[in-house]
Amino acid sequence: MKITTLGTGWPLPSADRAGAANLVEAGGQRFLVDTGRGVLMRLAAAGAGIGQVTAVLLTHLHSDHVNDFNDVLTTHWIGSFAPAPLKVFGPAGTQAFVDRTLAMLEDDIGWRMDHHDDLSWRPEVEVTEVTDGLVLESGGVRVLCAPTDHRPVHPTVGYRFEHEGAVGVCAGDTVPCDGLDRLVAGAGVYVQTVCRRSAVEAIPAPRLQDILDYHSDLAQAGQTATRGGVGTIVLTHMVPPPVPGTEAEWVAEVAEHFDGTIVLAEDLTAVEVPAGE
Ligand SMILES: [Zn+2]
Ligand SMILES: [Zn+2]
Repeated sequence: MKITTLGTGWPLPSADRAGAANLVEAGGQRFLVDTGRGVLMRLAAAGAGIGQVTAVLLTHLHSDHVNDFNDVLTTHWIGSFAPAPLKVFGPAGTQAFVDRTLAMLEDDIGWRMDHHDDLSWRPEVEVTEVTDGLVLESGGVRVLCAPTDHRPVHPTVGYRFEHEGAVGVCAGDTVPCDGLDRLVAGAGVYVQTVCRRSAVEAIPAPRLQDILDYHSDLAQAGQTATRGGVGTIVLTHMVPPPVPGTEAEWVAEVAEHFDGTIVLAEDLTAVEVPAGE
């Protein structure tokens, strides 16, 4: 199993960090977790197209995690040679979000179908809303989810991937909670979106301070990793983006609470998930 951080940015645009998205590869399959800004460009850089993705898994419907979902939907459709539903999993509300995205694209869908004689089908999306437990089983890969806590954004979920003893987790935006602990238990690799409390507090903007109460800070991420006995924690979606030269400080804050390997991700950082004993 391999996890690649496709986008490690926060909600504001960055020259070198795309929006929230991760690629999980296992058992000859690819799973896309979240579809933030630039996701298909980074997926291309990771060597894949959306047609090679088994399923899209959304942690939540915050704009920075779905703002290129319409690109995923359209590109999957116009790149297909036969009707093939895009499989999308996400928390309650995902079906309505997909329906509204399709409505937004209605003019474009009509123009393309009018213009291309061989494109005789509309985009099809197969949505499964998930809450807790088994999400899917495919070719020896098991994907599970658990509820996370990112209130007032609700509901939200994180995902756990299991294949031949390897366990990888993409947690999404959340503070520590029971569901998160269940996801990360015994994981080889745990990917967590994080904020650095001291850096946020140094920026006197109320809208930024609000971020602190619904994201794991570096200490909390380290504590969650330790409780779960994970091997490697991958920090992503850094709020605010690390000032160049301070990366070691971010890692050191986590290391106060976690003895394992700590990776401060950049876009396209790839981490192998070891098979368990
Ligand atoms: Zn969020
Ligand atoms: Zn976010």
